[in-house]
Amino acid sequence: MSDADGMQPFWTSLTLTQMSHSEWESLCDGCGRCCLHKLECEDSGEVYYTDVACRNLDCSAGRCLDYRNRQTLVPECLVLKPEDIESFHWLPATCAYRLVAEGKSLPIWHPLLTGDSESVVRAGISVRGRVVLESSVSPDEFEERVIHWIS
Ligand code: SF4
Ligand code: SF4
Repeated sequence: MSDADGMQPFWTSLTLTQMSHSEWESLCDGCGRCCLHKLECEDSGEVYYTDVACRNLDCSAGRCLDYRNRQTLVPECLVLKPEDIESFHWLPATCAYRLVAEGKSLPIWHPLLTGDSESVVRAGISVRGRVVLESSVSPDEFEERVIHWIS
């Protein structure tokens, strides 16, 4: 794939470690899926997503309420780094960081291809309006909140 100038898009021509900070940040489609609580099977290591969101997620927007200060507000928030690529398996299969790490193409709804941040919502990938805040669910109930629309 190449753009109108015949240039390869950066996500196909650069590795994750070669990207600039802004290129790296633009890979995020803003789906909010990684902001959900997950359960990991001790035996298989398989990761299961729940519909229970981090306390800092705006569930109606499907976005972090304060992305810039997220680590101060939520110390357990995992900040993705290129050097952590070996652990990207826990990310949803739709996540651009995981896709690029696995040498796969970005999906057609990705904002970098559509030029529209809402395309992730129209494609049904965003968690917008589909999840609840962790404050409304007891940790004992997380197992009952496992969802199957994220893998
Ligand atoms: S799952 Fe990936 S693409 Fe979606 S918000 Fe998280 S980091 Fe961004
Ligand atoms: S702090 Fe923000 S980016 Fe981090 S998990 Fe919570 S909602 Fe997501």
